Amino acid sequence: MIISKTAGISEIFSSIQGEGTHMGERHLFVRFERCNIHCEYCDEIDKAGEAFDIDSVVKRIVKLEEEAGPHHYVSLTGGEPLVYAPFLRMLCPQLRERKFKLYLETNGILDRALSEIIEWVDVIAMDMKPASVTKEKNYWEEHEKFLKAAKAKELFIKVILSKEIDTQEFMTCVKMLRTHAPSIPFILQPISLKDREGHDDRELLRLMAELQQMASYYLRDVRIIPRLHRILNIK
Ligand code: SF4
Repeated sequence: MIISKTAGISEIFSSIQGEGTHMGERHLFVRFERCNIHCEYCDEIDKAGEAFDIDSVVKRIVKLEEEAGPHHYVSLTGGEPLVYAPFLRMLCPQLRERKFKLYLETNGILDRALSEIIEWVDVIAMDMKPASVTKEKNYWEEHEKFLKAAKAKELFIKVILSKEIDTQEFMTCVKMLRTHAPSIPFILQPISLKDREGHDDRELLRLMAELQQMASYYLRDVRIIPRLHRILNIK
């Protein structure tokens, strides 16, 4: 964990939220640089950042809100924003004071870091990371602890799927959700790769429809949602 008055931020920009249940809303994105894991398909991991202090971030956000707002949320994204929890503990209250609502995009692993800032967060977009897709290890224990804490807020779970998804791993996600939060939205998102999009792959979409059907025996709200910004070819 980084303890610093600055954070590595690769970009601050206004765009349309392209993922999950808030798709289509205008968000003001703060993209943090580092991540605590390394998914094979990650499209953000190579983006270099700059050190920003709290004042510079707040000023950029206020300026962008004036120029391109209003925005539905300030979206803390990455990388993994919770790597910077000490910085967020200082930033989030300042954004709240200025009436911004906060949306946290996270890989759902750092539950202690979440507890440091959850009081200021309005929406949590939590990933679950099956190893068969990420080529990392599984994080079931971490995901379970995180989920139990995150469900105190508006929450949805997203799992990125490729044709390599292991059905047992997928069902582990489903059963964890059935145990702790069976009514929250469970989003199945086709993988994006540098040179191609999963939403163009008919075989993957067929597989996802089968997985949606399987998950729907256990959960109330299972949706297939591709990344809108990739379809629209915007940032
Ligand atoms: S958790 Fe997200 S930011 Fe981190 S490596 Fe995986 S895809 Fe990239």
